[in-house]
Amino acid sequence: MRTPAERPIGAIAWALVDLVTPAECPGCGNPVMIAGGTSAWCDSCSADLRRRWYAAPRRSEPSPSPPGLPQVVAAGDYAGALRHAIVSYKDAGNARLRPELAGHLAGALGRLARPPGVVLVPMPSAARADRARGGAPVAALVARAADLLPEPIPVLRSLRISRPVADQAGLDRRARAQNVGGAYAVFRRVAPQLALRPVLLADDVLTTGATLAEGARAVRAVGGRVLGAAVVAATHRRAVFDWSTVAVRATVEERRRSAKR
Ligand SMILES: [Zn+2]
Repeated sequence: MRTPAERPIGAIAWALVDLVTPAECPGCGNPVMIAGGTSAWCDSCSADLRRRWYAAPRRSEPSPSPPGLPQVVAAGDYAGALRHAIVSYKDAGNARLRPELAGHLAGALGRLARPPGVVLVPMPSAARADRARGGAPVAALVARAADLLPEPIPVLRSLRISRPVADQAGLDRRARAQNVGGAYAVFRRVAPQLALRPVLLADDVLTTGATLAEGARAVRAVGGRVLGAAVVAATHRRAVFDWSTVAVRATVEERRRSAKR
């Protein structure tokens, strides 16, 4: 199902609404005036959002990394205004944010090897959750990102949820792994198309990696070769460990020791 903003007539109506009504900033909820169709960030959230995008998409690995997780490239940090943007897009159906999110997801995809024949598989979300959110927002985001690549990749919506899973939000690492372990399967009609095919996975967010690892397992189970995954944003829950500080401390210790000699 398409959201109202995706229909041409709806888009015009929304643009008119934008011209006469202040919108809500997706970051802080404060009213902002926007020119039809553009994203509606207040100045401070807009500045925060710019900071959350990495200078360039980069490898992101949860710690610990679940078995079978392919290499993941993320475009930004799942925090602050970027977190609000993804939640607003996915859960509140704020389709205005899709172009920006898709642009960065395309950037992340661009860092992964894309050999001939590669297909892009979006991660599924619970069908009921999709209905409540007015469509399949992650699949729509992934499709948009695929189109933005210099050489667009075909998107194959291959994965389905084969048993009930709870929404991953609010679950801890162990609960997430248990929640999605063995929970995905490839649609039977699509399975032959994935056999021996290079596959990239795509999702909105990387947290513990449990979801992407399960998606990779399901694709490999039908013979697909998972080369990597791209996400819009990744969480950084690991302890901050700054090697540069260690190096400075080591140098200071070394000097102290030489002074004593
Ligand atoms: Zn704001």
